[in-house]
Amino acid sequence: MKQVFGPVPSRRLGQSLGIDPVPMKTCNFNCVYCQIGRTRPYRTERRHNFKVEDILDQVRDVLSAHHTGEIDWITFVGSGETTLHAGIGELVRGVKEMTDIPVAVITNGSLFYMAEVRQELAAADAVLTKLDAGSPALYRRINRPYQSLVFDQFFSGLVAFRKLYQHQLWVDVMLMKDVNDSERALEDIAALLSKIQPDEVHISLPSRPPAEPWVRPADKEGIERAKKILSANASVLSPREGKFDFGCEENLVDGVVGIINRHPMTETELINALAGWDATAVESTIEALKNSGRVQIVTRQGVRFWCPAEAYYGSS
Ligand code: SF4
Repeated sequence: MKQVFGPVPSRRLGQSLGIDPVPMKTCNFNCVYCQIGRTRPYRTERRHNFKVEDILDQVRDVLSAHHTGEIDWITFVGSGETTLHAGIGELVRGVKEMTDIPVAVITNGSLFYMAEVRQELAAADAVLTKLDAGSPALYRRINRPYQSLVFDQFFSGLVAFRKLYQHQLWVDVMLMKDVNDSERALEDIAALLSKIQPDEVHISLPSRPPAEPWVRPADKEGIERAKKILSANASVLSPREGKFDFGCEENLVDGVVGIINRHPMTETELINALAGWDATAVESTIEALKNSGRVQIVTRQGVRFWCPAEAYYGSS
């Protein structure tokens, strides 16, 4: 499986070519809403999981196969926490040297307390991070970080990164019903946002299969409350329509698995995404996927999602 996938439609980044620098699932958080399931075990060491040059070669190949305008952003995102790749700085700089397409990094922000990580992301055009909780207790309940990653260190890391970082810093709040949508929880988050001073605040709703079955998106009332309290400019992200490109891999099944591993899809999305191929290819691909042992179907609130087989989703 390659580390480069897509482009896929992104809610914030248009048609986004994904670079997934870590193996499934490499994370030091275990967020209750994680779309690629529970983290087991936690990974905390930064490693060169894949060779920097190999990843850059893959990016070069995909760029040469696409026309100008087909890719809006190149985004580090994927099967876990991107900054756990010890070469993330080289990767960001390597892609920047290769193309004028803007580069984004999606990170949980847990390693911003390390000066070298802050420096490594400095060259990215946008850094998208998260703040789901404004108190240590809620942070532990939602993000369930590795034990040594305490809240004060997490928050001061974000503030330190903002001081250094000159480009677009976007902070995402995943809004969940009866978890962080109360007035008190939102006021706590707002107080921290005013210290971080991000360029944009985004409100997301869990729309992919959450690791925990009890996670629900905030309702209309909760969303309105969040918009009012978090920031005058907070925007609510809605799912984006767009084209999934399965062409990064040698064949269609690998291409679909490459995307599902990083971006679980509803059955309808999958069928629509395959619509451009001839009917026989679609049927045989769906059949091959079912028999491959590489995907699993997870149902959340009546919706069937095609998810990576290796991911572990809670059932109760
Ligand atoms: S949502 Fe992101 S930070 Fe949270 S567990 Fe999943 S990969 Fe890790």
